[in-house]
Amino acid sequence: MTAPRIEIDLHKIRQNTRYLVENLESREITVTGVTKAVCGHPGVAQAMLDGGATDLADARVSNVERLREAGFTCPIAMIRTPMLSQVDRIVHSCDTSYNTEINVIKRLAAAAVLRQTVHNVILMVEMGDMREGILPENLKAIVQQVTKMPGVSLKGIGANFACLSAAAPDAATMTAFSALCSDIEEACGLSLERISGGNSANVPWALGLRSPGRIDNLRLGEAILLGVDPVTGDQIGDLHTDAFTLVAEVIETKVKPGPVDLSFADPDLARPVPDVPCERSIVAIGLQDTDIAGLTLPEGITGLAATSDHFVVRGAVSQLHTGSELKLQMNYSALMRAMSAPEIIKIT
Ligand SMILES: *Cc1c(COP(=O)(O)O)cnc(C)c1O
Repeated sequence: MTAPRIEIDLHKIRQNTRYLVENLESREITVTGVTKAVCGHPGVAQAMLDGGATDLADARVSNVERLREAGFTCPIAMIRTPMLSQVDRIVHSCDTSYNTEINVIKRLAAAAVLRQTVHNVILMVEMGDMREGILPENLKAIVQQVTKMPGVSLKGIGANFACLSAAAPDAATMTAFSALCSDIEEACGLSLERISGGNSANVPWALGLRSPGRIDNLRLGEAILLGVDPVTGDQIGDLHTDAFTLVAEVIETKVKPGPVDLSFADPDLARPVPDVPCERSIVAIGLQDTDIAGLTLPEGITGLAATSDHFVVRGAVSQLHTGSELKLQMNYSALMRAMSAPEIIKIT
């Protein structure tokens, strides 16, 4: 079979989704399956829905369009604040978008009116991650504007954590977010249909002993796909951490003298090459394909350095004949880059 390729075990993705859905159900939290790391891969998206995700979300409109072309009719949300240049495509392909800018919402509303439809808006609040979000003190004024605007319907409020800043959401922050949502409902005389509390970094909090308060939804990508908590990298419960395997092929194995001046190489990757002649191999995968530093090699094999198209490794010679295939595990960064690499085929 051709390499490099990603082997995707859809059964494991379905099981991971099911585990999270069932454990969050008792806390009255629904799961939105986030497909951005797999570029809206239809098989993965279907496995998320089969596992009990109520709907889907992605950060790029091209991925949502891929899902629509594949025949998906379920609700799909745009979780990245829409670009003004894409509002019409977003209204056409997404039921809902997460928003932080009133000018964008006005343009979404205008596009929806032209299309004789109503677009749902979830307002993102800044709760400490310092990436996207409306500051809490400005939320009420924006809610009041959105609820008066034809073409859009205020569906809920959301927050995001541990994306830009590394801090995991703590109980106090989540309680403050719940309180803010209740205050807004009271001040504006409305009832929010969805309060989306965050991403995979919220799973330990949501499965903890305390009540999740007003939060009734999480948007989950990494926890479903890789089975880990993005903040600690630890496995969550019994989730599968090997639903994706990157398979790459050895193209050269030779004894070469060392050492090598690796001052050009990415310091996160470069390992000293021994000062004696030793056997080294080249794997046909590189920085253009994936985040090489995010790969886990088979037992007994060490990565030495990588360039755009070559990954130099050494170790267990029996596994490193020309033509041998290496099975590599990927972290989130390696996964999202490999999934978007056109040269890497994806097999389910
Ligand atoms: C990427 C993203 C998610 C999903 O994050 P995971 O860590 O993969 O669960 C959720 N919400 C927003 C706004 C995102 O950008």
